[in-house]
Amino acid sequence: MNLTKRLQCYAREIGLELIGLAGVQPFTSAQEVLWERRRRGLYNPFAPANIDLACHPSRVLPGAKSFVAVALSYYQGHLPRPEGYRGYMARFSWGQDYHKVLGLKLDLLQRFLRREAPNSQSLAFVDTGPFLDKEVASRAGLGWFGKNTLLITELGSYLVLGGLLTTIGFSPSVFEQRECGTCDLCLRACPTGALIAPGILDSQRCLSYLTQRRGYFPPEMRSMLGLRLYGCDTCQEVCPHNYRAPITPHGEFFPRGQGHWPDLVKLLSLDKQGFKALYTGNAAGWGGRTLLQRNALLVLGNIGEPDLLATLKESFCDPRPLIRGHAAWALGRLKNKRALQVLEGGAANESDPLVKEEIRSALKGFSGISP
Ligand code: SF4
Ligand code: SF4
Repeated sequence: MNLTKRLQCYAREIGLELIGLAGVQPFTSAQEVLWERRRRGLYNPFAPANIDLACHPSRVLPGAKSFVAVALSYYQGHLPRPEGYRGYMARFSWGQDYHKVLGLKLDLLQRFLRREAPNSQSLAFVDTGPFLDKEVASRAGLGWFGKNTLLITELGSYLVLGGLLTTIGFSPSVFEQRECGTCDLCLRACPTGALIAPGILDSQRCLSYLTQRRGYFPPEMRSMLGLRLYGCDTCQEVCPHNYRAPITPHGEFFPRGQGHWPDLVKLLSLDKQGFKALYTGNAAGWGGRTLLQRNALLVLGNIGEPDLLATLKESFCDPRPLIRGHAAWALGRLKNKRALQVLEGGAANESDPLVKEEIRSALKGFSGISP
C-alpha cells in the first residue's frame, strides 16, 4: 500500500469522514475575488486577515508541496425542543468546540506523517488558520461551493473543515466538479437577504456573523433574529443536500450541559463562574457571557411575553451598559404599561449615552399605546 492509501486509511480510522489531496499552487482567481469583496465591504470577517498570504500557501511553509484536506461531520439529526423560553443554537455550537475536536485528529494525522516521512514538515489548520479552508477543500475534491457560500459534499454541508499543509508531495485527488443547478432555496430562505447573489454573502447582514460579533447588535436586524441565540442554520436546513445527511458518529458534537435550546431566563441569571462551568469548551463559549446574554435579551424581546418583565427588569439594572441597552430594547417590545414604567424609571437614572439612546428609541415605540 502506498503512502497515499495508508494516509487515507489512517484518516478514516481516526474518524475523519472525508479526505482529499491537492497541490499548493497559488489561489489566483480566489485572490482577485477576495480583494474585490474586501473593497466592497463583503469580505468575511472570520476569513484569514492576510488575503495574499492565504492565497500563496508556500509562503507560509517553505517547501510545501501538498494540502491534505479533511472534513468531520457534525450533523446531529433532529432533537426535540424543550419547553419554556428558549433560544436556538446553530448546530456547530451544540457540543464541544469543533476546533478542539478536529485539532486533536489533525494532531494525530501530523504524527502519522512524521512517522511515515521523518524529514517532512506540516502545518495544521482549522477554519481560523491562515488558509482558505473551503478553497482548499474544494481543490482537493471534497465538495463544491453552494450558492449559500458553504462547501457542499456527499455528506451535506454540516462539516468542520481543516487539513494539513505538508512538504510531502502527494498526487492530487481526481474528482468531478458539481454545482447547485437551478436550486435557489437558500437565497429565498435567508431571513435578512444576506445572500445578495449566488455565492455572495454580505456578512454585515448575516445573523450567524452578527450573533458572534461583540458590541451593539444593529437595531434594524434585531427582529429578524427571531429565536436565534447563536449562529444561524437556515441556509443549511433548507439545502436539499442536507436532507439525508448522515448523523455524525462523533459524540462530542451532541449537546452538553447548556443544551441546544438553552433556557434564556437561566442563561441571563448566570454569573461568571456559572457561565464558565456551562460553556467552557463549547464553540459558543469563546465569545463570552456578555455576548450570549445580549443575544438572549434580543430573543426574549422577540418572544415579547408580558411575564418576562421581571427578568428583563433585572437585566435593565445590570452593571454592564451593553446588557442594560439590550434589555431596554427588549422591554420596549413588551409594549405594556409596566414595561413603560420601568423604562421611564431607568431613563431618569441612566448615565451611559448609548443606553440612554436605546431607552429613548424603546420609549418611542410606546407612542399611541394607552397606558
Ligand atoms: S446563516 Fe442565516 S442569515 Fe446568514 S446567510 Fe445563511 S440564512 Fe442568511
Ligand atoms: S439550497 Fe440549493 S442553491 Fe443553496 S446551496 Fe443548497 S443546493 Fe445550492
